[in-house]
Amino acid sequence: MTDTTAPDSPRPDFPHATALGYPRIGRRRELKRALESYWAGTTTADDLERTSRELRLATVRRLVELGLDPGTGAVPNSFSRYDQVLDVTATLGAIPARFGHLAASSAAESVAGASTGDRAGLAPTGSATGISTEAYFALARGTADQPPLELTKWFDTNYHYLVPEIGPETPIGFADDRIVREFTEAARPSDGGTPVVTRPVVVGPVTYLLLSKPEDGAPEDFSPLSRLDDVVAAYRELLAALAAAGAPWVQLDEPALVSDLIGVPFDGPTGPGQDRNEPESAPRTVSDAVRRAYATLTAPEAGAGRPQILVAAPFGDLRRESGDRLELLAGTDVEAIALDLVRGTAPSSRPAVQDAADGGPGNAARGAGLAVPGLASKTLVAGVIDGHNIWRADLAARLDLLESLRGTGAGAIAVGTSTSLLHVPHDVADEPRLDPALAGWLAFADQKVGEVVTLARGLREGRAAVEPQLAEATAAVTGRADAAGVVVPAVRDRLARLSDGDFARAPYADRAAAQRTRLDLPPLPTTTIGSFPQTTEIRTTRAAWTRGDLTDADYEARIREEIARVVALQEELGLDVLVHGEPERNDMVQYFAERLAGFATTVHGWVQSYGSRCVRPPILWGDVSRPEPITVPWATYAASLTEKPVKGMLTGPVTILAWSFVRDDQPLADTANQVALALRDEVADLETAGIAIVQVDEAALRELLPLDAAAQPAYLDWSVRSFRLTTSGAAPSTQIHTHLCYSEFGDIVGAIDDLDADVTSVEAARSRMEIVPGLASAGYARGIGPGVWDIHSPRVPSDGQVSDLLKLAVAEIDPRLVWVNPDCGLKTRGYEETTASLTNLVAAAREVRASL
Ligand code: GLN
Ligand code: ZN
Repeated sequence: MTDTTAPDSPRPDFPHATALGYPRIGRRRELKRALESYWAGTTTADDLERTSRELRLATVRRLVELGLDPGTGAVPNSFSRYDQVLDVTATLGAIPARFGHLAASSAAESVAGASTGDRAGLAPTGSATGISTEAYFALARGTADQPPLELTKWFDTNYHYLVPEIGPETPIGFADDRIVREFTEAARPSDGGTPVVTRPVVVGPVTYLLLSKPEDGAPEDFSPLSRLDDVVAAYRELLAALAAAGAPWVQLDEPALVSDLIGVPFDGPTGPGQDRNEPESAPRTVSDAVRRAYATLTAPEAGAGRPQILVAAPFGDLRRESGDRLELLAGTDVEAIALDLVRGTAPSSRPAVQDAADGGPGNAARGAGLAVPGLASKTLVAGVIDGHNIWRADLAARLDLLESLRGTGAGAIAVGTSTSLLHVPHDVADEPRLDPALAGWLAFADQKVGEVVTLARGLREGRAAVEPQLAEATAAVTGRADAAGVVVPAVRDRLARLSDGDFARAPYADRAAAQRTRLDLPPLPTTTIGSFPQTTEIRTTRAAWTRGDLTDADYEARIREEIARVVALQEELGLDVLVHGEPERNDMVQYFAERLAGFATTVHGWVQSYGSRCVRPPILWGDVSRPEPITVPWATYAASLTEKPVKGMLTGPVTILAWSFVRDDQPLADTANQVALALRDEVADLETAGIAIVQVDEAALRELLPLDAAAQPAYLDWSVRSFRLTTSGAAPSTQIHTHLCYSEFGDIVGAIDDLDADVTSVEAARSRMEIVPGLASAGYARGIGPGVWDIHSPRVPSDGQVSDLLKLAVAEIDPRLVWVNPDCGLKTRGYEETTASLTNLVAAAREVRASL
């Protein structure tokens, strides 16, 4: 690799190979157990710190074992006890005023006035400077009188971060040096193990503020971005402390640069440079904020006192038709930039790395001419290994891509992952139950680090040096393409024969009339979203059956018993449309994945969702079909117990895709339609069995919305079509419901209308029906069930509170369209609050009904 730094500079080059981050929950979810026992009070804060230190050291040493350089900052130091955004909040001491008492108590623990030098001089395991463990977790989990910081999705992943609350007066400084301590802990380990010079990974200052929300009570026009200078000043202190501790590199993650969903324009009407003329004003655009932040962080007087900076922009394409964001970063004085070369510009397009390999259009191909001003003095960390999905890469093709990048403009090329590996499980070797062929097609975090190391070696020493690894990877990719089940002609033929008629139902007016006759429901019909509380008994029963400790017959008898109980309860409560309660489902996606051909599930494939919560996404590897009916026996059993209509309950194709690892060898649209056809058969079988209402949940429709605005229309088109393909075979008299699980969909109201469901339920209790006027003014004129009970808390709403919400709804929208239901499913609730809340819900519906 060529030297990119000035000839007289003693500063070390960026390492040849790296990953942008690594899973932190532990191979056997050690962190989860440590956290949960600490929260339960059975272990202490010191125990938690000890376990997490062991985990951190084991992780950095594992990364060295896998081939990352131990001495140059190649190993990412990306641990977090809970969340990387919360870690910045803690580092800055940015504790919202509503947690004021915590600020006071944590200040007592900090070493007031400690200079940067003192901090850097901490002993290896350090005397803690900063906010207390108690305060940290109070922000994450709430206190007796304060709800926690809000959880929100991290870009287009299924990870959730804690939203900072920033106001004009929020304290912001360099308040906690944990990041420095965790660097030192690995570099000068107290356990006598191998020292590793890591690269601290920190959410960048611009992304941090763009993800923040104004603190409650902040002035109407306050923008967290106006605190940029304070935040950057604190980062400068952090960087100085890291430099003093010996860190050669630091990674600042700025994924906000690739997102059009953050509410701040990338470039303002006044164009670039505005802030240079108005240094006092707050930045109004992302590009202004980036220029300003990185000018300060790299200002010469800071030069000696900081590590070299890698800015990473994962999750998307920096080279947009709407503006070249790479040019913006290249114009700063940071030493290295990490590009995500895996993401195409639309989820429906093939991955850019493949397009580039085929010579097609893709960001990598467009990026091949990297004649971007400023880039010649920087290292480009080429993210060619997918950190977001689990497929083994075609290494020969990726090496071609890397070679094509060399000499096109960047000062040097290093090899990296496209994103942090946080979003994939640890190790394929931990999955003894996977079909060996399938296992051979997969790369989890450890395998991906190996891929990066191989590519870096190939790039440096020539292809011959890694020929066996390339050949093995090519064989795996070819083997996968040819394997039985990957392409199933019957599935392909059925897809090819689809015509527009397969995506459309009869006009709504005709359907509404037929459904009125068939269902004969009262105005403001009451129903639930599907699941009833999952008691310990139900979970134990399912687990025993999965283990083989319970016969199929016994299992079925117990589930039937539960369904009968739930149906009887709903009749007693007086609900109008009943459900079977979903006791047989572990998870709304996994349940279907386990019963459809084309999917596999893992044993240890856990991925952090938030805090200690992990999910095990199924792997969608082949063409999808339905070997036999999935939900029909349970739904028909429930229906046989009552005169009232029982809703059939399915998870929609987009949600199934969103919460699985999905094959990357064909457009997502095709995969979605395969799932849709399997579900369409299920809808037909439910109809044949006499079920009059079928609900198809699309909890993740908004979640998959591309970060790149230019890619959104194509996404909305295929996602809506897959829903319609699922449901449009239904007769006019069959009522199709959908449940969307969230209410922030101002930007996709049109798409929701295009789903053409007869009834749509959404979350609305917390926002006090805010969604309803928006829907009404957008012309939505089919059934709507805005949630009247916030099921996220055990609080029981009174009938007065429910009827107030209902009155808000019927004032805005034709009362004949309004349904009465909770915000979401009840599986996490207990029976006590469920019974009380549903009693009030039914009473409120009756009251408002009477007043119509
Ligand atoms: N039908 C599902 C349930 O009630 C819906 C869950 C969801 O929206 N997340 O549990
Ligand atoms: Zn929901």
